[in-house]
Amino acid sequence: MNVPTKLQVLEQYFGYASFRPGQEELIDALLRGQDVVGVMPTGAGKSLCYQVPALLMEGVTLVVSPLISLMKDQVAALVQNGVRGAYLNSSLTWGQYQKALRNARAGLYKIIYVAPERLLTPEFLDFAQSVEVSMVVIDEAHCVSQWGQDFRPSYLDIPDFVDKLPRRPVVSAFTATATPRVRRDILSLLRLRHPFVNVTSFDRPNLYFEVRRPKDKLQELFTLLEPRREKSGIVYCATRKGVEEVCTALGERGFAATRYHAGLSDQERQKNQEDFLYDRATVMVATNAFGMGIDKSNVSFVIHYNMPKDLESYYQEAGRAGRDGQPAECFLLYSGQDVSLARFLLAHSEEGQDLDPRAQEQLAQQNERRLQAMTGYCHTTSCLREYILHYFGEHAPTQCGNCQNCLGVFQQVDVTQQAREITVCVGHLRGRYGAAMVTDVVRGSKSEKVLRQGLDRFPSYGKLRGQKEDFVREVIHTLVLQGFLEQSAGEYPTLRQGDRAPELLRGEACVLLQVRREDGDAVPKKKAPQDLPKGDPQLYDRLRQVRAKLSAAQNVPVYVIFSNATLDAMAAYRPTTPAQLLEVPGVGQAKLQKYGMAFLKEIQRWVRERAEQSEA
Ligand code: ADP
Ligand code: MG
Repeated sequence: MNVPTKLQVLEQYFGYASFRPGQEELIDALLRGQDVVGVMPTGAGKSLCYQVPALLMEGVTLVVSPLISLMKDQVAALVQNGVRGAYLNSSLTWGQYQKALRNARAGLYKIIYVAPERLLTPEFLDFAQSVEVSMVVIDEAHCVSQWGQDFRPSYLDIPDFVDKLPRRPVVSAFTATATPRVRRDILSLLRLRHPFVNVTSFDRPNLYFEVRRPKDKLQELFTLLEPRREKSGIVYCATRKGVEEVCTALGERGFAATRYHAGLSDQERQKNQEDFLYDRATVMVATNAFGMGIDKSNVSFVIHYNMPKDLESYYQEAGRAGRDGQPAECFLLYSGQDVSLARFLLAHSEEGQDLDPRAQEQLAQQNERRLQAMTGYCHTTSCLREYILHYFGEHAPTQCGNCQNCLGVFQQVDVTQQAREITVCVGHLRGRYGAAMVTDVVRGSKSEKVLRQGLDRFPSYGKLRGQKEDFVREVIHTLVLQGFLEQSAGEYPTLRQGDRAPELLRGEACVLLQVRREDGDAVPKKKAPQDLPKGDPQLYDRLRQVRAKLSAAQNVPVYVIFSNATLDAMAAYRPTTPAQLLEVPGVGQAKLQKYGMAFLKEIQRWVRERAEQSEA
């Protein structure tokens, strides 16, 4: 009998004609019997890297996986493809578990998914020792590290389990998120032997990223879709209800839209999916249930109607655009309510229900941190691609040139003054009121509530008279995100001053708001270095002194603060506002926050002195 090749397996079981970048090297190493670590973005196809060799190896492959839902999906997909697979976790009843183990002993399964907590239980160990285990796969391997997002203590048991097997199987570890620190942990804590390590870049240069905050999302969606009628794209909504509403509205507008969510019959889902795949429907409106295992290469835009719960989900879903390598666009329509909606969905998800209370608490905290990071994406004024890649532990240039922030679709408006008034007002109100009341007070509202409580007699009353309500709310939101204000949890959140409030009140911090340019024209945000006149040497020296002081005070090397080239550009361009400073190459949002004020003050002083000199 001929032994099939890896390509035959790929075709026969998975129906694909070729490997994706990174897959083949990992598969070859495993087939040679070498341990591997595969770091690949979500959706890149890590499963195939171990499933293909598993089918080519003699014995059983055990896959350690952290989540019941993941195991179920993976096994369902395998069985669909004619692979004998099963999972062993706490979602099975005692009887089901026993039966599955019996089947496993009888050699019925080729690939078995197992929760890490099971490995060292006497029953499972006894089984594993009695069969030939050819490979142990550790999926979501970052769970072994305390530095990662999803530390799972029982992942630390995996090497002990491997040691207890009569013959050491080849061990492979896969993850999508591995900072260097986590990567080191994976190598050492899992006790891998001379592993072949393959890291695939997460970057998808052909994708354009943009976040919009429309007042009316549906209207904005029409605006986006109208010029893209000829193209094929996905609109993701957070809920089934959202899918229904949006899909109906698009239909009424004459778009060839179809829908997909878990509430539809299998039959309808199948049909709608095919309509989309074969371009009979050009827009697919769907929940995140849509997309698994779908590989339509000519999707040229993905629009998120709601912000997803984390960047992993966002990047995976947005990443369904531009599979063919053609330029494609990813838009996110953000509103503050998306954050509460994501929180609500997280609180009601099945994820983690098999964990003990402590682990559940940890999971909840991680979810919250990830949600924060996702929200940060919607608010950042620096390069969106860098933000994403940085999140996934990859170094990236601070300017990609293919996202809204790099293309200058937005401009920064300095709202430090207004932010200060609001923060002062929040201090006066002593944590008793929420954003709505704070907004009313600073705008000098004569509403009954304000007058009844006598808030019109507060010194902050009417300080921002004439400013739009939306604008004030947006500033408050930014202040919360940046730690100048703090918002309580619960149904009626109240505001108080945050840890960073003193910084703002002392004039050491600035606050910028991102506003869409009215002209809508994309203009490069950064000044190109060659366009700048040579910096004034005297100012340059003074900026160097500022840098030296900061460096000594914070005990960091000078170049960590700003490079000489950046100081030179500052001396040439002489920015006097935070927004102008941001236009200087080498100044990003984070550095502006940390160091900007010190340099701006020096430049302002210098400009003043010069003016006085020329008057005299
Ligand atoms: P990951 O675990 O890296 O997030 P998966 O293993 O779940 O990703 O794979 C994501 C999708 O990519 C799956 O639908 C899978 O079938 C598909 N896929 C994987 N490898 C290939 C390939 N070589 N050709 C086409 N599609 C692939
Ligand atoms: Mg995976």
